[in-house]
Amino acid sequence: MRKIQMVDLKGQYKAIKEQIDSSVIDVIESTAFVNGPEVHAFQKELEDYLGVKHVIPCANGTDALQIAMMGLGLQPGDEVITADFTFAATVEVIALLGLTPVLVDVDPVTFNIDVEAIKKAITPKTKAIVPVHLFGLSAQMDEIMELANAHDLYVIEDNAQGIGATYTSKDGTKTKTGGIGHVASTSFFPSKNLGCYGDGGAIFTNNDDLAHTIRGIVNHGMYVRYHHDVVGVNSRLDSIQATILRAKLPLLDNYNAKRRNAARKYTAAFTGIKNLITPTGFCDAKNSICDVCDCHVFHQYTLRVTGADRDALVQHLNNNNIPCGVYYPIPLHLQKAYRDDRYNEADFPVTNKLVKEVISLPMHTELDDEQIAFITKTVIDFVTK
Ligand SMILES: *Cc1c(COP(=O)(O)O)cnc(C)c1O
Repeated sequence: MRKIQMVDLKGQYKAIKEQIDSSVIDVIESTAFVNGPEVHAFQKELEDYLGVKHVIPCANGTDALQIAMMGLGLQPGDEVITADFTFAATVEVIALLGLTPVLVDVDPVTFNIDVEAIKKAITPKTKAIVPVHLFGLSAQMDEIMELANAHDLYVIEDNAQGIGATYTSKDGTKTKTGGIGHVASTSFFPSKNLGCYGDGGAIFTNNDDLAHTIRGIVNHGMYVRYHHDVVGVNSRLDSIQATILRAKLPLLDNYNAKRRNAARKYTAAFTGIKNLITPTGFCDAKNSICDVCDCHVFHQYTLRVTGADRDALVQHLNNNNIPCGVYYPIPLHLQKAYRDDRYNEADFPVTNKLVKEVISLPMHTELDDEQIAFITKTVIDFVTK
């Protein structure tokens, strides 16, 4: 059996090595390292793929979130609601900009931000909601957009884990995640579903004025050369990363299909096994893997371990040379940097439970049946013993 990796970037590279190598050399030969034609071509291709009007490439997914909030003109003291159970980048940029983070609990089935918890957290100071399409599953965007419209709030989709997922609205409209809110961010960190070979990110919006504002912000607040109209940042995608992303973008749907396929096999093996709860898509909660649409692109395949010791399972897997991850082990509201007297433990029952139960199994485009069989057997042996 091939060695099991959490993310197999090497195997994926080998399959496209010739094309990647020659396009990287072409960029080097061209010396157009920054803002070159490759970046512009990638931007257009991603706009077409996502069906959004504007993609603004930038340096990473954390910058993308920060720039989106700057572009919306959020001001110190404005409250921004986001999920307690996610990667810290989301709350970090809210705090960095002097905005007030308002962390709320998540849904135990989807792991995504809980719409009822958002409702309870809205105050006259609330200006924006940041849903995260966590682990690759679209958040409940119909309900979130309705709420935002009713209270005149912005919605910033953190699509770092969800690129390529399709959200189906109640009226049947299908939209790629990142094209539903007022603005969205994504990351091209190597391990993301569409990863480059370094850092990269992008902001998406369908709003022409906002796109214009953001294009200036990423470039030192310049709209006319050496005229600085607003305080900006320096955040660019370089041409080498763009050419790699151009090679991988046409493969993204296939990559996501492979992830879903691996998830389906995991779930088939785990169905009916005691002490395990398999991940699910909200649009078809009866089927553990949604076959109705592409709402889940499985950035992670995350189980809940309910009646067995999760940390001992991590150890058991590691002893069997199976890498795994705990995303995320600490609720954001309990992180030293983000503690606040406003928070009440009773408001976070789900996150407080999930951090003790979740375990993410190897998930990437190169998993084979032999590896999946070994992983599932090793998990099942432990939780049923
Ligand atoms: C990866 C990630 C980010 C940050 O992206 P970087 O490119 O690493 O800065 C933000 N939000 C979520 C949910 C992520 O998974």
